[in-house]
Amino acid sequence: MTKPTIIAIANQKGGVGKTTTAVNLGAGLAARGLKTLIIDLDPQGNASTGVGCSVRGRELTSYDLLAGRITLPEVVIDTNIDGLKLVPSTPDLSSADIDFSALPNRIRLMKAALSAEQDYKYILIDCPPALGLLTVNALVAADTVLVPLQAEFYALEGLSQLLMTVREVRQGANPDLRVDGVVLTMYDGRNNLSQQVEADARATLGELVYTTIIPRNVRISEAPSHGLPVTIYDPASAGSRAYNALTGEFLDRQKEIA
Ligand code: ADP
Ligand code: MG
Repeated sequence: MTKPTIIAIANQKGGVGKTTTAVNLGAGLAARGLKTLIIDLDPQGNASTGVGCSVRGRELTSYDLLAGRITLPEVVIDTNIDGLKLVPSTPDLSSADIDFSALPNRIRLMKAALSAEQDYKYILIDCPPALGLLTVNALVAADTVLVPLQAEFYALEGLSQLLMTVREVRQGANPDLRVDGVVLTMYDGRNNLSQQVEADARATLGELVYTTIIPRNVRISEAPSHGLPVTIYDPASAGSRAYNALTGEFLDRQKEIA
């Protein structure tokens, strides 16, 4: 086995599709026979719920992993999806910024926890909606960062702040960090604003923007309450087809890098 490729799914705005992208890309990779792990790094635990992990099933969490109290294999659990594993989170994680702030290695806790890892092809880290210590830990540990961008006003302003953080991490703790790409989410083709944000994003960011666009689709928002990705909940839906295309394009980009 070789080292996994680690992808931080990040955007400091909430509700832009980070968790939905983590769950559906994770399921898409697993469905292609690629062993994949999702690490839930958001205290809200939406990724954990989204792959079918009940709140009671969260005894050991990403907090314990960061704290160095346990090893990765000890904290990984199964999900509703074959080939997809999970490190769950609970609200305890919300104190991580404070609890770990005095540690000299505080931005390298995730990197340290994943350093010996050889079981997975891909590790997706679902980041919280902030640019604090948790997201920085994900960026320091990651090979690439994938940015969901909600097709709405102000989307690009938030993005420049995130890219600045990526630049800082690159100048310091993780010089090899790459931006995999930006994915437009919750796109409404009938809405002029969606089209405008897409045009602006492609003009400013060029190739960084995925060709695949995730449409606003009600099946995507229903799926988490069943503990399933939309690709399994309703495979024929527009949301499922879009996320399948995203997985394909993600893998194409991986090939280009290799
Ligand atoms: P984040 O993790 O960035 O906070 P989520 O992935 O949790 O964002 O998405 C926020 C909400 O929007 C969730 O309720 C989710 O089910 C819903 N949602 C996400 N993507 C779509 C989409 N393409 N169409 C419809 N609803 C979506
Ligand atoms: Mg989320």
